[in-house]
Amino acid sequence: MIKESPLLVSDAHYSQSVDAGDYFFHVVKAGETIRIIDSEGNQAADTLFYNANDVSERYSAMDTIREQGNVYLTAGSILKTNDNRDLMEIVADTCGRHDTLGGACATESNTVRYDLEKRCMHACRDSWMLAIQENEQYGLSKEDITHNINFFMNVPITEEGGLTFADGISAPGKYVELQAKIDTLVLISNCPQLNNPCNGYNPTPIEVCVWSA
Ligand SMILES: [Zn+2]
Repeated sequence: MIKESPLLVSDAHYSQSVDAGDYFFHVVKAGETIRIIDSEGNQAADTLFYNANDVSERYSAMDTIREQGNVYLTAGSILKTNDNRDLMEIVADTCGRHDTLGGACATESNTVRYDLEKRCMHACRDSWMLAIQENEQYGLSKEDITHNINFFMNVPITEEGGLTFADGISAPGKYVELQAKIDTLVLISNCPQLNNPCNGYNPTPIEVCVWSA
């Protein structure tokens, strides 16, 4: 569902450009709104969410999909936690589809999906590991890396129930916007993947903006 936001970038209280292969790691307080902008188009933003006051409560793909009865995420989707509580709501979306089934890229999956020699290529899981290592104050460890959302990524499900990594449907300047229902720790890996069409084989920067409540 395409839904534009009334918020102006010039009114955001925080903004950050995130290169492909880099990460964004911040608390979005209850009532605040975060926008992720696909600056150059066809990018994938692999994102994890936690209750900022208790990181053992975090985004759950299973609870989210079950509650909304739809495997794709777009405007109107409520992100649920593993305690089945509201975490964030997608309040605007000019792309129209986001994936939460495909998981994030890792050096291990690169070897299985593409080639053994791809093992040393940079992957989202590495960016998350670096982020939690460089930000010990949030108290996350390797075991906390669980379900994620791949914003702007097009992963259609086949008739047989398989997943396909298809050409992106995003374009330069498209964005998705979420409002926090509780204080939410947001960890985005801006995907450096070079082996599938989710980012047009050309990883590019994203822009992240946050508005006060
Ligand atoms: Zn990735």
